Amino acid sequence: MKYNSIIIGGGLAGLTSAIRCAEAGLKTALISAGDSALTFASGSIDVLGIRQNNSLVQYPFEEISHLPSDHPYRKLGAAQVKQSLHFFTEQMAKAGIQMSSHGQQNHSRLTALGAIRPAWLSQPGTKALSIAAPAAGLRRVAIINIAGFRDFQPALVAAGMKKHPEFTGVEFTVADISAETIKIDARNAYELRSLEMARLLKRDLFSQPKGLTIFASAIQKAAGNADLVVLPSVLAVENGNELISQLEAHTGLPVCELATLPPSLPGMRMASALRQRYRELGGLLLEGDEVLSGYFDNNQLRSIKTRLNPSMPLEADHFVLATGSFFSRGLDSNPSSLTDKTFNLDVVETGQREQWSNERFLNGSQHGFSYFGIETSERFNPYQNGNAITNLYCAGGVLGGFNPVAEASAGGVAISTGWFAANQIIAHRSDSSGTAK
Ligand SMILES: Cc1cc2nc3c(=O)[nH]c(=O)nc-3n(C[C@H](O)[C@H](O)[C@H](O)COP(=O)(O)OP(=O)(O)OC[C@H]3O[C@@H](n4cnc5c(N)ncnc54)[C@H](O)[C@@H]3O)c2cc1C
Repeated sequence: MKYNSIIIGGGLAGLTSAIRCAEAGLKTALISAGDSALTFASGSIDVLGIRQNNSLVQYPFEEISHLPSDHPYRKLGAAQVKQSLHFFTEQMAKAGIQMSSHGQQNHSRLTALGAIRPAWLSQPGTKALSIAAPAAGLRRVAIINIAGFRDFQPALVAAGMKKHPEFTGVEFTVADISAETIKIDARNAYELRSLEMARLLKRDLFSQPKGLTIFASAIQKAAGNADLVVLPSVLAVENGNELISQLEAHTGLPVCELATLPPSLPGMRMASALRQRYRELGGLLLEGDEVLSGYFDNNQLRSIKTRLNPSMPLEADHFVLATGSFFSRGLDSNPSSLTDKTFNLDVVETGQREQWSNERFLNGSQHGFSYFGIETSERFNPYQNGNAITNLYCAGGVLGGFNPVAEASAGGVAISTGWFAANQIIAHRSDSSGTAK
């Protein structure tokens, strides 16, 4: 079986690339070994939020020209990064989630530790705060949990928020809603993770005709006259944003959700929406299989072998490697070197082992290893023993030359490089056959 394009890795980068290829009519297969980092992510998209000196970026696209020349955004340029995010927003909307941005500016989002992080795109259930004045318009904030659920601690969120001088003078209420009040059978609430809590709420509460009203009145009682109600993101995976908006209508209060400890339902919601969109476009999704090796010939990748079908190599004209960083095992390291686990491609210069990390782990996340990854050409083709592989493109966390955590750029780099890889493939195909749209 020969494909026009095979995408390896089903995270944000791989899914964006696969959707773009499938939408252009290419015969596309996406192979993904397991869950991606989206299962852990907030469900907002960071584009570029923090400078090297730790100051916040207000206008991310204006900042791109100041980045080092080997940064993925510098290879793309601000206009292409913007176009890719536009494409992503459109695809998410087609999959039923209206992500929103704030003109050319970043906004701030809260975390479950009460920290404030810059982001570019957020889901409707996320409270987008002003980047310059995050507490603007807030006088009373109520942070409410379901009693016994351990992966969200309202007091911790409030304590974290109070550390920001902007929130001085804001009054915080922390409260729990008991399982009896909302009539859920949560004898083991302390053992539940967010996904199980969502399933329980669906089974015992939201499937009942008065479920929403019961939950809304429990919130009203706990929140009083708060001008923001913060809930853990445990209400639902797919329709979580709709539930938040229905709760706002029922309570008459502004309500938002915060991603809890993993699994993160807003991140899973995004992954599920993108997979659904890709399938709708006719793409083939091979989940739970892993690419083990590739056959290279004349500086081209000709075919790949997977764990489940080692005797049946898959061929394609073009490939995208979007296997993520160390977190998803796209990259691996030993005490002296770094490797791309899939094809053993050339990686960026890693320097001395002692410089790989900073002694203080949370010290601005300025660790050498964060910049590690595959080295690529201006068009994101990787090298093998110094030779560019011209029909293979790299995208997302597997790339070197940027620091996703310290810069708050992970989602934007994944989307823009995944989109760009697909565009290269589409352009190449149009040139040679005129078949792609
Ligand atoms: C804890 C955490 C929180 C985050 N929060 C945010 C956030 O708030 N905002 C934001 O913008 N970004 C966030 N990110 C980053 C973001 O979710 C992604 O990590 C990033 O966008 C990179 O995506 P990716 O597609 O390159 O890789 P990943 O998401 O890592 O996906 C790689 C995929 O490739 C698969 N794979 C690996 N090797 C193979 C192989 N050989 N064959 C087949 N499949 C393979 C993996 O199983 C995985 O599914 C967060 C990341 C983490 C880890």
